[in-house]
Amino acid sequence: MDYRYDHILIRYGELSLKGKNRNSFIKQLMVNVKKALKSFETLEFERQHDRMYIYLHDENAEQVSEVLKKVFGISSFSLAIKTKPDMDEIIQACLDSQDLDACKTFKVAARRSDKTFPIISDQMNRLVATAILKNSNWKVDVHNPDVKVVVEVHKDAAYIMTDRIEGAGGYPVGVGGKAMVLLSGGIDSPVASYLMMKRGTHIECIHYASPPYTSQNAQDKVMELAQQICGYQGDLLVHVVPFTNLQLAIYQHADESYAITLMRRMMMRIATGLAEKRHAQAIATGESIGQVASQTLESMQAINEVTCTPIIRPVVCMDKVEIIDLAKKIGTYETSILPYEDCCTIFTPKNPVTKPKIDRCKKYEDRFDFETMVNDCIENVESIWIHPKKEDKTETVYVNANADGSVDKITVSDWLKNHSS
Ligand code: ATP
Ligand code: MG
Repeated sequence: MDYRYDHILIRYGELSLKGKNRNSFIKQLMVNVKKALKSFETLEFERQHDRMYIYLHDENAEQVSEVLKKVFGISSFSLAIKTKPDMDEIIQACLDSQDLDACKTFKVAARRSDKTFPIISDQMNRLVATAILKNSNWKVDVHNPDVKVVVEVHKDAAYIMTDRIEGAGGYPVGVGGKAMVLLSGGIDSPVASYLMMKRGTHIECIHYASPPYTSQNAQDKVMELAQQICGYQGDLLVHVVPFTNLQLAIYQHADESYAITLMRRMMMRIATGLAEKRHAQAIATGESIGQVASQTLESMQAINEVTCTPIIRPVVCMDKVEIIDLAKKIGTYETSILPYEDCCTIFTPKNPVTKPKIDRCKKYEDRFDFETMVNDCIENVESIWIHPKKEDKTETVYVNANADGSVDKITVSDWLKNHSS
Protein backbone atom coordinates (compact mmCIF):
# COMPACT_ATOMS: atom_id res chain seq x y z
CA MET A 1 0.00 0.00 0.00
CA ASP A 2 2.87 2.36 0.68
CA TYR A 3 4.97 1.66 -2.37
CA ARG A 4 4.43 5.12 -3.76
CA TYR A 5 6.28 6.81 -0.93
CA ASP A 6 9.92 7.52 -1.62
CA HIS A 7 10.96 9.08 1.73
CA ILE A 8 10.57 8.70 5.46
CA LEU A 9 10.42 11.84 7.52
CA ILE A 10 11.51 11.42 11.16
CA ARG A 11 10.45 13.71 14.01
CA TYR A 12 12.75 13.90 17.01
CA GLY A 13 11.42 12.92 20.41
CA GLU A 14 12.23 14.44 23.79
CA LEU A 15 15.29 15.85 22.08
CA SER A 16 13.54 19.15 21.70
CA LEU A 17 13.76 19.61 25.47
CA LYS A 18 17.47 19.33 25.58
CA GLY A 19 18.84 22.77 24.68
CA LYS A 20 22.59 22.55 24.43
CA ASN A 21 22.82 18.79 24.10
CA ARG A 22 20.57 18.84 21.12
CA ASN A 23 23.29 18.56 18.50
CA SER A 24 25.06 15.62 20.06
CA PHE A 25 21.71 13.89 20.58
CA ILE A 26 20.76 14.31 16.95
CA LYS A 27 24.18 13.05 15.88
CA GLN A 28 23.77 9.97 18.07
CA LEU A 29 20.28 9.38 16.70
CA MET A 30 21.67 9.51 13.17
CA VAL A 31 24.35 6.95 14.09
CA ASN A 32 21.72 4.69 15.66
CA VAL A 33 19.28 4.98 12.77
CA LYS A 34 22.02 4.12 10.28
CA LYS A 35 23.18 1.20 12.40
CA ALA A 36 19.65 -0.16 12.77
CA LEU A 37 19.08 0.08 9.04
CA LYS A 38 22.48 -1.05 7.84
CA SER A 39 21.10 -4.07 5.99
CA PHE A 40 19.07 -1.76 3.71
CA GLU A 41 21.91 -0.83 1.45
CA THR A 42 20.41 1.79 -0.86
CA LEU A 43 19.00 4.10 1.82
CA GLU A 44 20.29 7.66 1.95
CA PHE A 45 20.11 9.83 5.08
CA GLU A 46 19.80 13.55 5.61
CA ARG A 47 19.94 15.26 8.97
CA GLN A 48 18.34 18.62 9.62
CA HIS A 49 18.01 20.44 12.88
CA ASP A 50 14.32 19.65 13.34
CA ARG A 51 13.86 16.53 11.20
CA MET A 52 15.68 13.64 9.67
CA TYR A 53 14.90 12.37 6.18
CA ILE A 54 15.54 8.94 4.74
CA TYR A 55 15.49 8.53 0.97
CA LEU A 56 14.17 5.03 0.37
CA HIS A 57 15.46 4.43 -3.17
CA ASP A 58 14.92 0.68 -3.73
CA GLU A 59 14.01 -0.28 -0.15
CA ASN A 60 10.65 -1.40 1.18
CA ALA A 61 8.99 1.34 3.23
CA GLU A 62 7.17 -1.08 5.51
CA GLN A 63 10.26 -3.10 6.38
CA VAL A 64 12.22 0.06 7.08
CA SER A 65 9.34 1.33 9.25
CA GLU A 66 9.34 -1.84 11.34
CA VAL A 67 13.01 -1.32 12.20
CA LEU A 68 12.55 2.41 12.86
CA LYS A 69 9.79 1.74 15.39
CA LYS A 70 12.46 0.40 17.76
CA VAL A 71 14.89 3.31 17.56
CA PHE A 72 14.71 5.47 20.69
CA GLY A 73 14.78 9.25 20.26
CA ILE A 74 12.13 9.22 17.52
CA SER A 75 8.74 10.59 18.55
CA SER A 76 7.04 9.78 15.26
CA PHE A 77 7.70 9.35 11.58
CA SER A 78 5.74 9.44 8.35
CA LEU A 79 6.17 7.96 4.93
CA ALA A 80 6.48 10.83 2.48
CA ILE A 81 6.79 11.95 -1.12
CA LYS A 82 9.04 14.92 -1.76
CA THR A 83 8.12 17.44 -4.44
CA LYS A 84 8.92 21.01 -5.39
CA PRO A 85 6.84 23.59 -3.48
CA ASP A 86 4.53 23.96 -6.43
CA MET A 87 0.77 23.44 -6.21
CA ASP A 88 0.42 21.36 -9.39
CA GLU A 89 3.21 19.04 -8.31
CA ILE A 90 1.79 18.78 -4.84
CA ILE A 91 -1.63 17.79 -6.15
CA GLN A 92 -0.11 15.23 -8.51
CA ALA A 93 1.94 13.72 -5.68
CA CYS A 94 -1.15 13.52 -3.46
CA LEU A 95 -2.92 11.56 -6.19
CA ASP A 96 0.16 9.36 -6.71
CA SER A 97 0.45 8.62 -3.02
CA GLN A 98 -2.93 6.90 -2.84
CA ASP A 99 -4.53 3.80 -4.20
CA LEU A 100 -7.52 5.64 -5.67
CA ASP A 101 -9.25 2.48 -6.92
CA ALA A 102 -10.07 1.43 -3.38
CA CYS A 103 -13.09 3.09 -1.86
CA LYS A 104 -12.16 5.21 1.14
CA THR A 105 -13.00 8.25 3.20
CA PHE A 106 -10.34 10.91 3.55
CA LYS A 107 -9.30 14.22 4.92
CA VAL A 108 -6.57 16.62 3.77
CA ALA A 109 -4.41 18.38 6.35
CA ALA A 110 -2.18 20.95 4.64
CA ARG A 111 0.23 23.33 6.33
CA ARG A 112 2.63 26.01 5.17
CA SER A 113 5.78 26.30 7.22
CA ASP A 114 6.94 28.77 4.57
CA LYS A 115 4.52 31.62 4.95
CA THR A 116 5.62 33.15 1.64
CA PHE A 117 4.04 30.24 -0.21
CA PRO A 118 1.12 32.01 -1.97
CA ILE A 119 -1.62 29.48 -1.21
CA ILE A 120 -2.92 29.35 2.36
CA SER A 121 -3.68 26.06 4.14
CA ASP A 122 -7.45 26.14 3.70
CA GLN A 123 -7.11 26.74 0.04
CA MET A 124 -4.58 23.90 -0.30
CA ASN A 125 -6.96 21.58 1.52
CA ARG A 126 -9.70 22.41 -0.90
CA LEU A 127 -7.54 22.12 -4.04
CA VAL A 128 -6.17 18.71 -3.02
CA ALA A 129 -9.54 17.39 -1.89
CA THR A 130 -11.19 18.50 -5.15
CA ALA A 131 -8.53 16.69 -7.17
CA ILE A 132 -8.97 13.49 -5.17
CA LEU A 133 -12.77 13.63 -5.44
CA LYS A 134 -12.50 14.14 -9.19
CA ASN A 135 -10.19 11.15 -9.64
CA SER A 136 -11.80 8.60 -7.34
CA ASN A 137 -14.94 7.46 -5.57
CA TRP A 138 -13.59 8.65 -2.25
CA LYS A 139 -15.66 10.66 0.19
CA VAL A 140 -14.58 13.36 2.61
CA ASP A 141 -14.82 12.60 6.33
CA VAL A 142 -13.14 15.23 8.48
CA HIS A 143 -13.79 13.46 11.79
CA ASN A 144 -12.86 9.84 11.26
CA PRO A 145 -11.22 9.41 7.86
CA ASP A 146 -9.67 6.14 6.62
CA VAL A 147 -6.84 8.17 5.12
CA LYS A 148 -5.31 11.43 6.21
CA VAL A 149 -3.38 13.12 3.41
CA VAL A 150 -0.86 15.40 5.08
CA VAL A 151 0.83 18.16 3.09
CA GLU A 152 3.67 20.30 4.41
CA VAL A 153 5.14 23.10 2.35
CA HIS A 154 8.66 24.24 3.24
CA LYS A 155 10.83 26.83 1.56
CA ASP A 156 12.61 24.49 -0.84
CA ALA A 157 10.44 21.37 -0.81
CA ALA A 158 6.96 20.07 -0.12
CA TYR A 159 6.15 16.76 1.54
CA ILE A 160 3.05 14.67 1.03
CA MET A 161 2.80 12.33 4.00
CA THR A 162 0.95 9.54 5.73
CA ASP A 163 -0.47 10.19 9.16
CA ARG A 164 2.05 9.97 12.02
CA ILE A 165 3.41 6.55 12.86
CA GLU A 166 4.28 6.40 16.53
CA GLY A 167 8.00 6.09 17.33
CA ALA A 168 9.67 4.50 20.36
CA GLY A 169 10.15 7.83 22.17
CA GLY A 170 12.90 8.26 24.78
CA TYR A 171 16.49 9.31 24.11
CA PRO A 172 18.89 7.86 21.54
CA VAL A 173 20.81 4.94 23.03
CA GLY A 174 24.35 6.05 23.78
CA VAL A 175 23.68 9.55 25.09
CA GLY A 176 23.07 8.23 28.61
CA GLY A 177 26.21 6.27 29.41
CA LYS A 178 26.42 2.50 29.86
CA ALA A 179 24.89 0.10 32.37
CA MET A 180 25.18 -3.62 33.08
CA VAL A 181 21.68 -5.12 33.33
CA LEU A 182 21.21 -8.35 35.28
CA LEU A 183 19.15 -10.40 32.86
CA SER A 184 17.37 -13.45 34.23
CA GLY A 185 14.85 -15.48 32.29
CA GLY A 186 11.93 -13.77 34.03
CA ILE A 187 9.43 -11.10 33.04
CA ASP A 188 10.95 -8.13 34.85
CA SER A 189 14.56 -7.86 33.76
CA PRO A 190 13.87 -7.64 29.99
CA VAL A 191 11.45 -4.81 30.80
CA ALA A 192 14.11 -3.16 32.97
CA SER A 193 16.54 -3.49 30.04
CA TYR A 194 14.06 -1.83 27.70
CA LEU A 195 13.50 1.07 30.12
CA MET A 196 17.25 1.63 30.53
CA MET A 197 17.76 1.77 26.78
CA LYS A 198 14.77 4.07 26.43
CA ARG A 199 16.56 6.58 28.70
CA GLY A 200 19.43 6.56 26.23
CA THR A 201 21.62 4.20 28.24
CA HIS A 202 23.60 1.64 26.31
CA ILE A 203 23.34 -1.72 28.05
CA GLU A 204 25.28 -4.93 28.31
CA CYS A 205 23.62 -7.87 30.05
CA ILE A 206 24.89 -10.25 32.70
CA HIS A 207 23.36 -13.66 33.19
CA TYR A 208 24.34 -15.95 36.06
CA ALA A 209 24.18 -19.61 35.05
CA SER A 210 24.59 -22.55 37.41
CA PRO A 211 25.05 -25.63 35.30
CA PRO A 212 24.23 -28.47 35.72
CA TYR A 213 21.53 -27.18 38.09
CA THR A 214 20.35 -24.83 35.37
CA SER A 215 19.96 -26.26 31.88
CA GLN A 216 21.10 -25.18 28.45
CA ASN A 217 17.42 -24.54 27.74
CA ALA A 218 17.33 -21.93 30.49
CA GLN A 219 20.35 -20.19 28.99
CA ASP A 220 18.89 -20.37 25.48
CA LYS A 221 15.78 -18.71 26.83
CA VAL A 222 17.86 -15.81 28.13
CA MET A 223 19.62 -15.52 24.76
CA GLU A 224 16.24 -15.48 23.06
CA LEU A 225 15.15 -12.63 25.35
CA ALA A 226 18.39 -10.80 24.64
CA GLN A 227 17.67 -11.14 20.96
CA GLN A 228 14.18 -9.74 21.39
CA ILE A 229 15.44 -6.61 23.14
CA CYS A 230 18.64 -6.05 21.19
CA GLY A 231 16.82 -4.37 18.29
CA TYR A 232 16.42 -1.33 20.53
CA GLN A 233 20.14 -0.64 20.48
CA GLY A 234 21.35 -2.53 17.40
CA ASP A 235 23.28 -5.29 19.13
CA LEU A 236 23.85 -6.51 22.64
CA LEU A 237 26.71 -8.12 24.54
CA VAL A 238 25.63 -10.77 27.05
CA HIS A 239 28.09 -11.95 29.70
CA VAL A 240 27.30 -15.42 31.00
CA VAL A 241 28.80 -15.93 34.45
CA PRO A 242 29.70 -19.47 35.62
CA PHE A 243 27.99 -19.17 39.00
CA THR A 244 27.73 -22.79 40.21
CA ASN A 245 30.71 -22.97 42.56
CA LEU A 246 29.89 -19.74 44.30
CA GLN A 247 26.29 -20.73 44.72
CA LEU A 248 27.21 -24.12 46.17
CA ALA A 249 29.64 -22.45 48.56
CA ILE A 250 26.88 -20.17 49.81
CA TYR A 251 24.67 -23.15 50.57
CA GLN A 252 27.50 -24.89 52.30
CA HIS A 253 28.47 -22.00 54.58
CA ALA A 254 25.36 -19.94 55.26
CA ASP A 255 21.99 -20.42 56.86
CA GLU A 256 19.54 -21.38 54.14
CA SER A 257 17.30 -18.39 54.86
CA TYR A 258 20.17 -16.06 53.90
CA ALA A 259 21.05 -17.86 50.66
CA ILE A 260 19.13 -15.52 48.36
CA THR A 261 20.51 -12.39 50.00
CA LEU A 262 24.07 -13.69 49.84
CA MET A 263 23.58 -14.79 46.27
CA ARG A 264 22.41 -11.28 45.38
CA ARG A 265 25.41 -9.75 47.14
CA MET A 266 27.70 -12.00 45.12
CA MET A 267 25.86 -11.10 41.92
CA MET A 268 26.45 -7.42 42.68
CA ARG A 269 30.16 -7.94 43.39
CA ILE A 270 30.57 -9.72 40.08
CA ALA A 271 28.50 -7.09 38.27
CA THR A 272 30.65 -4.36 39.82
CA GLY A 273 33.80 -6.03 38.53
CA LEU A 274 32.33 -6.45 35.08
CA ALA A 275 31.04 -2.88 35.04
CA GLU A 276 34.54 -1.67 35.78
CA LYS A 277 36.02 -3.84 33.06
CA ARG A 278 33.44 -2.77 30.51
CA HIS A 279 33.52 0.92 31.53
CA ALA A 280 29.86 0.99 32.63
CA GLN A 281 28.66 3.49 35.23
CA ALA A 282 25.75 1.56 36.71
CA ILE A 283 24.13 -1.81 37.33
CA ALA A 284 20.41 -2.37 36.69
CA THR A 285 18.02 -5.09 37.83
CA GLY A 286 14.37 -6.09 37.45
CA GLU A 287 13.67 -5.92 41.18
CA SER A 288 10.36 -4.47 42.33
CA ILE A 289 9.42 -3.66 45.92
CA GLY A 290 7.48 -6.41 47.60
CA GLN A 291 7.15 -8.60 44.57
CA VAL A 292 8.76 -11.57 46.31
CA ALA A 293 9.90 -12.02 49.88
CA SER A 294 13.48 -11.16 49.03
CA GLN A 295 12.62 -7.86 47.35
CA THR A 296 12.14 -5.64 50.38
CA LEU A 297 13.88 -2.35 51.12
CA GLU A 298 15.89 -4.08 53.86
CA SER A 299 17.00 -6.64 51.33
CA MET A 300 17.95 -3.94 48.83
CA GLN A 301 19.96 -2.27 51.56
CA ALA A 302 21.86 -5.50 52.21
CA ILE A 303 22.45 -5.94 48.49
CA ASN A 304 23.58 -2.35 47.87
CA GLU A 305 26.04 -2.50 50.73
CA VAL A 306 28.61 -4.47 48.72
CA THR A 307 29.09 -1.93 45.94
CA CYS A 308 29.57 1.78 45.32
CA THR A 309 28.34 1.44 41.76
CA PRO A 310 24.80 2.84 41.48
CA ILE A 311 22.15 0.13 41.23
CA ILE A 312 19.18 1.23 39.15
CA ARG A 313 15.87 -0.61 39.43
CA PRO A 314 13.70 0.72 36.63
CA VAL A 315 10.58 -1.29 37.58
CA VAL A 316 10.98 -0.86 41.34
CA CYS A 317 7.63 0.89 41.84
CA MET A 318 5.64 -0.66 39.04
CA ASP A 319 2.76 -3.09 39.55
CA LYS A 320 3.25 -6.55 38.16
CA VAL A 321 0.35 -5.89 35.77
CA GLU A 322 2.09 -2.78 34.42
CA ILE A 323 5.31 -4.72 33.97
CA ILE A 324 3.48 -7.51 32.17
CA ASP A 325 1.77 -5.01 29.86
CA LEU A 326 5.15 -3.57 28.92
CA ALA A 327 6.62 -7.05 28.46
CA LYS A 328 3.79 -7.83 26.04
CA LYS A 329 4.31 -4.56 24.22
CA ILE A 330 8.02 -5.19 23.66
CA GLY A 331 7.39 -8.83 22.76
CA THR A 332 9.28 -10.60 25.56
CA TYR A 333 6.35 -11.85 27.64
CA GLU A 334 5.71 -15.14 25.82
CA THR A 335 9.35 -16.14 26.12
CA SER A 336 9.62 -15.01 29.75
CA ILE A 337 6.81 -17.29 30.88
CA LEU A 338 8.37 -20.42 29.38
CA PRO A 339 8.95 -22.73 32.33
CA TYR A 340 12.72 -22.98 32.57
CA GLU A 341 14.54 -22.91 35.86
CA ASP A 342 17.02 -20.16 36.66
CA CYS A 343 19.61 -20.09 39.39
CA CYS A 344 17.18 -18.36 41.77
CA THR A 345 14.35 -20.81 41.37
CA ILE A 346 16.34 -23.99 41.92
CA PHE A 347 18.13 -22.87 45.05
CA THR A 348 15.12 -21.14 46.58
CA PRO A 349 15.05 -21.63 50.34
CA LYS A 350 11.77 -22.45 52.06
CA ASN A 351 11.84 -19.36 54.25
CA PRO A 352 13.98 -16.63 52.76
CA VAL A 353 14.73 -13.82 55.20
CA THR A 354 12.72 -10.70 54.38
CA LYS A 355 14.70 -8.34 56.59
CA PRO A 356 18.29 -9.50 56.24
CA LYS A 357 20.88 -8.08 58.64
CA ILE A 358 24.14 -6.92 57.09
CA ASP A 359 26.11 -8.24 60.09
CA ARG A 360 24.82 -11.72 59.53
CA CYS A 361 25.57 -11.53 55.82
CA LYS A 362 29.15 -10.63 56.70
CA LYS A 363 29.37 -13.39 59.28
CA TYR A 364 28.45 -16.04 56.69
CA GLU A 365 30.69 -14.51 54.07
CA ASP A 366 33.66 -14.63 56.46
CA ARG A 367 33.39 -18.40 56.46
CA PHE A 368 34.76 -18.84 52.95
CA ASP A 369 37.05 -17.15 50.47
CA PHE A 370 34.35 -15.66 48.31
CA GLU A 371 36.67 -13.00 46.86
CA THR A 372 38.67 -15.55 44.92
CA MET A 373 35.47 -17.14 43.68
CA VAL A 374 34.04 -13.77 42.66
CA ASN A 375 37.24 -13.01 40.75
CA ASP A 376 37.09 -16.43 39.10
CA CYS A 377 33.56 -15.66 37.94
CA ILE A 378 34.68 -12.33 36.49
CA GLU A 379 37.67 -13.90 34.79
CA ASN A 380 35.69 -16.75 33.28
CA VAL A 381 32.63 -15.03 31.87
CA GLU A 382 31.64 -16.07 28.42
CA SER A 383 30.68 -12.98 26.42
CA ILE A 384 28.36 -13.39 23.48
CA TRP A 385 27.30 -10.81 20.93
CA ILE A 386 23.61 -10.88 20.11
CA HIS A 387 22.24 -9.41 16.91
CA PRO A 388 18.70 -8.74 15.79
CA LYS A 389 19.08 -11.21 12.94
CA LYS A 390 18.54 -14.76 14.16
CA GLU A 391 21.01 -16.35 11.72
CA ASP A 392 23.95 -14.61 13.38
CA LYS A 393 23.19 -15.88 16.85
CA THR A 394 25.16 -19.08 16.98
CA GLU A 395 27.82 -18.16 14.47
CA THR A 396 30.63 -17.32 16.86
CA VAL A 397 34.37 -17.01 16.88
CA TYR A 398 36.71 -16.09 19.72
CA VAL A 399 38.52 -12.83 19.36
CA ASN A 400 40.80 -11.04 21.76
CA ALA A 401 38.65 -7.96 21.49
CA ASN A 402 39.32 -5.87 24.59
CA ALA A 403 42.21 -3.70 25.60
CA ASP A 404 42.21 -5.31 29.04
CA GLY A 405 42.92 -8.71 27.51
CA SER A 406 39.53 -10.25 28.21
CA VAL A 407 38.12 -12.40 25.48
CA ASP A 408 34.79 -11.76 23.82
CA LYS A 409 32.83 -13.95 21.49
CA ILE A 410 31.89 -12.15 18.33
CA THR A 411 30.16 -13.26 15.14
CA VAL A 412 32.28 -14.08 12.14
CA SER A 413 30.57 -11.47 10.00
CA ASP A 414 31.19 -8.75 12.57
CA TRP A 415 34.74 -9.86 13.11
CA LEU A 416 35.38 -9.58 9.38
CA LYS A 417 33.72 -6.18 9.31
CA ASN A 418 35.83 -4.86 12.21
CA HIS A 419 39.02 -6.19 10.72
CA SER A 420 38.55 -5.21 7.12
CA SER A 421 38.72 -1.46 7.68
P1 ATP B 1 12.73 -11.45 36.75
O1 ATP B 1 11.33 -11.57 36.28
O2 ATP B 1 13.49 -10.37 36.07
O3 ATP B 1 13.45 -12.77 36.77
P2 ATP B 1 11.89 -11.87 39.37
O4 ATP B 1 10.66 -11.19 39.75
O5 ATP B 1 11.84 -13.30 38.99
O6 ATP B 1 12.62 -11.02 38.23
P3 ATP B 1 14.10 -12.45 41.02
O7 ATP B 1 14.23 -13.76 40.37
O8 ATP B 1 14.02 -12.35 42.48
O9 ATP B 1 12.87 -11.64 40.56
O10 ATP B 1 15.29 -11.55 40.53
C1 ATP B 1 15.34 -10.17 40.72
C2 ATP B 1 16.34 -9.58 39.76
O11 ATP B 1 17.65 -10.13 39.97
C3 ATP B 1 16.02 -9.92 38.32
O12 ATP B 1 15.10 -9.02 37.76
C4 ATP B 1 17.36 -9.82 37.67
O13 ATP B 1 17.69 -8.47 37.38
C5 ATP B 1 18.30 -10.34 38.74
N1 ATP B 1 18.53 -11.79 38.56
C6 ATP B 1 17.97 -12.81 39.20
N2 ATP B 1 18.45 -13.99 38.78
C7 ATP B 1 19.34 -13.73 37.82
C8 ATP B 1 20.19 -14.51 36.97
N3 ATP B 1 20.22 -15.83 37.01
N4 ATP B 1 20.99 -13.85 36.10
C9 ATP B 1 20.97 -12.52 36.01
N5 ATP B 1 20.21 -11.74 36.79
C10 ATP B 1 19.40 -12.31 37.68
MG1 MG C 1 13.54 -14.37 38.19
